[in-house]
Amino acid sequence: MVSRSFAIVGAGFSGAVVARQLAEAGHQITVFDTRPHVAGNCFTKRHETGVLVHVYGPHIFHTQHEHVWNFITRFGVMKAYRHTVSAMSGGKKYQLPMNLTLINDFFGTNFTPEQAEAFITEKADKTITHPVSFEDQALRFVGRELYEAFFKGYTKKQWGEEPTALPASILARLPLRFTADDSYFNHPFQGIPEHGYTPIVEAILDHPSITVHLSTAFNPSGAHAYDHVVWTGPIDAFFGFAHGRLGYRTLDFVQEVHEGDVQGCPVLNYCDESVPYTRITEHKHFAPWEHHDKSVTYTEYSRLCTEADTPYYPIRLVEEKDQLVKYVERARAQQGVTFLGRLGTYRYLDMDVTIHEALNAASGMLDALARDSAIPSFFTDPLGGA
Ligand code: FAD
Ligand code: UDP
Repeated sequence: MVSRSFAIVGAGFSGAVVARQLAEAGHQITVFDTRPHVAGNCFTKRHETGVLVHVYGPHIFHTQHEHVWNFITRFGVMKAYRHTVSAMSGGKKYQLPMNLTLINDFFGTNFTPEQAEAFITEKADKTITHPVSFEDQALRFVGRELYEAFFKGYTKKQWGEEPTALPASILARLPLRFTADDSYFNHPFQGIPEHGYTPIVEAILDHPSITVHLSTAFNPSGAHAYDHVVWTGPIDAFFGFAHGRLGYRTLDFVQEVHEGDVQGCPVLNYCDESVPYTRITEHKHFAPWEHHDKSVTYTEYSRLCTEADTPYYPIRLVEEKDQLVKYVERARAQQGVTFLGRLGTYRYLDMDVTIHEALNAASGMLDALARDSAIPSFFTDPLGGA
């Protein structure tokens, strides 16, 4: 096998996983990241109180892919962690997701699972047969009262758009159950790294054929110096924003340090539109195996991302999708570059999907090299799904 040189742009999970797989196959890898740290948006660090902080917002690992779980656990210990989310609505605290307990608390009932299911089926708007918007989907899913109490205000704050303008797919992330199970996720493999995500990504990148340059922006004009480039930065940035900037939401976190325990749970959502923030995260509850006298909280505000901000959530409304088509056409015509990850394909990807897609991309690249054929620009279609 001929050893090739790869530049990997971005040291988040996408870049790190591809780098590792290609390095293990005998290639020479140079990784670049603009930031002074690895792990991208999954970066965690110790605060001076000792609390492990999820610097770019709360990250819980959950997956249905056993091979992804096996991959990540090669590089660090994943501690058992079952995520729960509480929610304030109308001045009262509830436990998400929508389940038997929430339905009984909200409607002041004492339903059995069967009664609750029949009740919600009755509430659900059956006239909506083909839900297009978030609002359609929510009304069809749980009916007007629960939609207005838990989804409408939060979603407007989070996305800066009316739920009638947002796609139905956003809601598909959340479960509805008629049992008291309050796990936020259904996946069989769930956990949080014992020492946070940063050491895991460092371990993935720790290979003799990988060199990492932090605080170093990679300019697409430097691509010719490598046999191939894997770009996990924003797809529009690669093309110098020639078709305008794709829309993202960014987040502002207001950090506070407290004595003791502030809210007794990791994440408390504020669903009323009158409250300006979306949620408060109390980081020490992501590591229940640790003890800290003090506590660090983040109050989270969502707003439109400007040039100076970190892009978090791809908006993907109709106008962004039209723009995306232009970038994808350019990317497909581009030789020697593969676009990957949350920013490279402009999709909201969870960490496990990111790792799954990066593993697939790496094996696709190795196959292409073995067949002596050109490496594709994409291994997943950015215009499909997500
Ligand atoms: P990123 O982590 O964004 O990494 C891309 C990297 O590329 C960045 O570090 C950037 O600095 C670098 N870069 C860009 N351009 C250049 C350039 N020109 N030169 C050099 N470097 C460059 N997922 C879950 O599974 N569970 C969760 O609970 C969860 N919570 C989340 C909460 C929030 C608030 C957000 C925003 C996301 C959450 N996610 C969660 C998703 C998770 O963050 C992503 O799946 C993951 O970060 C994607 O990794 P990536 O490598 O594709 O992108
Ligand atoms: N959502 C909501 N109210 C809540 C929680 C979620 O309206 O209390 C909506 C909101 O539109 C959000 C989406 O459901 O963007 C997905 O929720 P999730 O908790 O998965 O959000 P994330 O952790 O990705 O920000």
